[in-house]
Amino acid sequence: NRRVILKEYVEGYPREEHMELLPGAEVPLRLTGDEPPGSVLVRNLYLSCDPYMRLKMSRPLRESYTAAFVPGSVITGYGVARVLDSSDPRLAPGDLVWGITGWEDYSVVRPPVTAFLAKISHHGGEGGAPLSYYTGILGMPGLTAYVGFHEICAPKAGETVFVSAASGAVGQLVGQFARLAGCRVVGCAGSAEKVELLRTRFGFHDAFNYKEEPDLAAALRRCFPEGIDIYFENVGGAMLDAVLLNMRVHGRIAVCGLISQYNLADEEKDAVRNLSAVVAKRLRLQGFIEPDHKHLYPKYEAWVLPYIRDGTLAYVEDVAEGLESAPKALIGLFHGRNVGKQLVRIADD
Ligand code: NDP
Repeated sequence: NRRVILKEYVEGYPREEHMELLPGAEVPLRLTGDEPPGSVLVRNLYLSCDPYMRLKMSRPLRESYTAAFVPGSVITGYGVARVLDSSDPRLAPGDLVWGITGWEDYSVVRPPVTAFLAKISHHGGEGGAPLSYYTGILGMPGLTAYVGFHEICAPKAGETVFVSAASGAVGQLVGQFARLAGCRVVGCAGSAEKVELLRTRFGFHDAFNYKEEPDLAAALRRCFPEGIDIYFENVGGAMLDAVLLNMRVHGRIAVCGLISQYNLADEEKDAVRNLSAVVAKRLRLQGFIEPDHKHLYPKYEAWVLPYIRDGTLAYVEDVAEGLESAPKALIGLFHGRNVGKQLVRIADD
């Protein structure tokens, strides 16, 4: 059972040396009986690379919403797996599941984490979704985009929407959900290739490469002459300041993530300079985390599946091959190397 461990806590940008792939010993393909009742043994098939995992690589912080990894232990995260053995009555050998698992070939998932393993029922066959989609559009990032946009932003047709990190796992979905809601949506991303994707595959009405804009506030003014009603915030930093200057009165900002800040020491983090716009324009700025909204998953899945099946929604994945490529794939998120949802295939379905 090969596994990827965190070697030490990370300061600054994560590097491959912070992680290590350990060769594994043979594992029994059954539970031994020593595990706590309700445990599940799985073969991991796909692993998801998600920006929040960087927050778990830092020394434990009091204000963090997610517990830190333990150096020397296997990295955990969302994935898709096949059940090999189970003492959880909900799951049987052969079932496919998505949820929290380990960066290893096989994992014993113990309670209470098994509460986050959900059985996959809409895979394969006619109209079935690819299994890998449960790391993205049918998994955590999908629910994040849905909750953040529909519940937190409460969009109305005709409103203007801006999305940062717009070609990524969450952003590509928010852009398309906004278009479906009858909004005018503009996205930004960090390369010409990504901007092209926003315009051609994901149907954004306009898009720009933020790395090539000398003045972000001016770029937003150009795209939103009448201002922004809704900002779906994925990056923070200078982009948030530029957006604040361009929000309309009574605008809403859903703070999903602040990826531009994750690798900075406290003293390097960007101060928000234009916060007074929140008062002047009576803005609502609300953070949210997906785990608080798991109960909405069945509603979301039923809503999104027909759009996947009939091709209304486009979905782009960036698939790295093999467990050994997982550290590099995760690090790539913080340099914008992923085009679309980053995941790792470690075994065939
Ligand atoms: P993405 O697939 O969008 O990958 C990350 C992207 O962020 C990169 O490709 C890069 O794109 C961009 N990026 C990286 N560094 C910077 C930077 N310094 N400044 C600007 N952009 C940067 O990731 P996800 O869609 O999975 O996540 C997007 C955001 O949503 C993150 O902030 C994440 O933490 C958050 N999130 C929050 C959740 C919640 O429950 N609140 C759940 C899931 C995600 P580019 O080339 O465009 O720069």
